[in-house]
Parts: sequence; C-alpha cells; structure tokens
Amino acid sequence: MESSSLKPQASRLVGILGGGQLGRMLALAGYPLGFRFRFLDPNPDAPAGHVGELHVGNFTDSTTLDRFAEGLSVATFEFENVPLDAARRLNERVPVYPPPAALDAGQDRLAEKHLFERVGVPVPPWSAVDTHADLKSAATAVGLPAVMKTRRLGYDGKGQFVLRDPADVDHAWETLAGGSFVLEKFVPFDREVSIIAVRRRNGDTRFYPLVENHHRLGILRWTRAPAPNLSDALQRLAERHATNVLDALSYVGVLAIEFFEKDGDLIANEMAPRVHNSGHWTIEGARTSQFTNHIRAIFDLPLGDTSAVGHSAMLNIIGTPSEPAECCAVPEAHLHLYGKAPRPERKLGHLTFQSPDANWIDTLLAEWRAKWRE
Ligand code: AMP
Repeated sequence: MESSSLKPQASRLVGILGGGQLGRMLALAGYPLGFRFRFLDPNPDAPAGHVGELHVGNFTDSTTLDRFAEGLSVATFEFENVPLDAARRLNERVPVYPPPAALDAGQDRLAEKHLFERVGVPVPPWSAVDTHADLKSAATAVGLPAVMKTRRLGYDGKGQFVLRDPADVDHAWETLAGGSFVLEKFVPFDREVSIIAVRRRNGDTRFYPLVENHHRLGILRWTRAPAPNLSDALQRLAERHATNVLDALSYVGVLAIEFFEKDGDLIANEMAPRVHNSGHWTIEGARTSQFTNHIRAIFDLPLGDTSAVGHSAMLNIIGTPSEPAECCAVPEAHLHLYGKAPRPERKLGHLTFQSPDANWIDTLLAEWRAKWRE
C-alpha cells in the first residue's frame, strides 16, 4: 500500500515487527523527531518493550497483526526473519518499508544469491543443496574448502558447516540434519567489510563509509569505522553494488551488505534489509545515525549527513555483562546496554569509542579487546 505524504496531524505512530535491540535503538532515535513506537514480538521480555508499547503475540496470528496495525502511520521490521506473510498482511493496512520483497530476498540465501547475480554483484561460487547427493556433487562443482549454510533462518553463523575435505561431506550432512542449503566456496578474504546504505521514499540515497568487521564463531565481535586504508575506489565500488540492489528492490530504508574484500575486489556475503550491527558506530561516529536515517527514510524526510566524525570502533558486549563504571570512565567511550538477561553468546550491548585520533582509537580497541578477550 502506498500512502500519500504524511499530514502533520497524522498519528506519527511507527509499528516495528520485532522488539529486539535494533527496534529499541530505532525508537530511541525516533523520539526526538516526535514519533511514537509500537512493537510486535512473541517475547514478553523483548528489550524494545522498555521504550515503547509492546504487543506480545505471534507474527503468524492475523488478529494480532490487525490489532497491531491499528492507528499506525508506517511499519518497518527490525529482524529479517519476520514471516513474509506477516509483512504482506500488514502492508495491506499500512505502508511497510523496506518493501516486503526485500524481506523475501533477505531471508533466503538462494533468493539473495539470485538477486546479487541478477544485478551484477559478485558472489562466491555456490550451488543449491537439497539432498545428500546434491551435497556430494556441489562439493565437486564448487570445490573445497566450502561453507554449507542453511537457506533460511541462519544468522550469526548458526546453521553453518565448513567442509575442508571430501570426508566432511557425510559429516556435514549428518550434522545439519536435512533441509535446504547452499554450499559456497570458502573465500580466503583479506578482510570483511560492510556498507550501510539508506534510501528515502523519494529515491534520494546516501551511503556510510565502508567499515571493517571482525567475526568469531560467526558473530560480529568488533567494527572499525571508517575501514582503515579505505580507498575511494573501494567505497565507490561498494556504493555501485548497493545502488544496484536498492534499485532492483525499489528499496526504502536502511540496507546493509556484507562483503569479503579480496585483492581490491568485493564479493558479497549477505545482505540485511534493516539497520545493522556493523552500523551501531554511527550513533556517535557519524553526523546522522543509521537509526535516525532509517526513520527519516520511511517517513520521506530529508536524509541526514552520513559522513563519519573522526574515527570509531564498536565492540559488541556478548554473553557476559560489562562493568558500566569501567566503560563510562573512558572519555571516548559510549556504552549501550540493551536490557537483556545474560546468556552465552547473546548480544547484551555494545561499546563505541569515538575520537578524532585514529591511533588512539586503535589503542583503545586493542586494550579493550584484550580485556574482553575478543
Ligand atoms: P554469515 O552468517 O553468512 O554472515 O557468516 C558468518 C561469518 O562466517 C562471515 O562473516 C565470515 O566470517 C564467515 N564466512 C561465511 N561464509 C564464508 C565464506 N564463503 N568464506 C569465508 N568465510 C565465510
């Protein structure tokens, strides 16, 4: 459903599918602009519930969805595994941005790879796998080492298996225990980078500088922004790739694309049709945060400046709570806690260091990585 531009008397109530930390940070960014927020999440303890109206219910329940839609000006989502039908049903009542088609591509690795290929964004050699026999032939066609990934519902490295030699084929098939997968060639990358793009309803588009990301066990541990030694050529290449994806999807909102950088080239790993963990540094490290720009984009407001202010490093707080007093004692540190109960490998918050001095950021990053054993 397309809406006409917002009237001042419109309720300015934003509906967000998902009540995690991304929804929470979207709301915190949207309040200064006068918006209100409502979240839908099956978990009564969802972190966004602390900062807005939380509807507890299932995404698949049509009555819940219809009640959630009442009075909304616009709706968005904060995690890409929201059932497509829920986004579509909501879209019959209220405009949903990014468009549900983006959700469709973002939640299925096969659809995502087809999209990347269609718009000329390089991907690693890959093959679809539905059976044990498929996996055997894919291992030969793609070549080893390779990474087997579930097509759907895989995130933060979950549902993945690295195959190093042919003997791993049987083991991988037994471990991942059936389903639909893609097998993709392992990329011996120089580093991992990501771009955050934002596109307004009228088509205006802006890009944040590429950032360098470091993962362990498939989970983002830290981000350095802008990526050290970032060349104009690499930034332009990433922007071209992102533009092709945005155009193909008639996209509105923030889009993140993660790349492997190899010999000055970019190979797409995956995209997220939402605000992204590798963009958290923008809260303090850019002139306008990804959260603010997402809200502006979906309300067709002029986008804010995406340039970096000095240098930043973002460290995720994973599993073990941090000591707030210790973090707050560092003048360059900005602590964000999501109000979640500690659990192994759970993202509980993040810490951003921001300074005009790149060397000082690297020093702080090294010190805190050692402290947190990241
Ligand atoms: P993903 O869930 O696909 O983002 O994968 C999580 C992490 O696993 C990535 O950020 C990489 O560090 C690593 N990884 C995934 N796919 C590949 C690949 N084809 N080659 C090398 N590393 C990979």
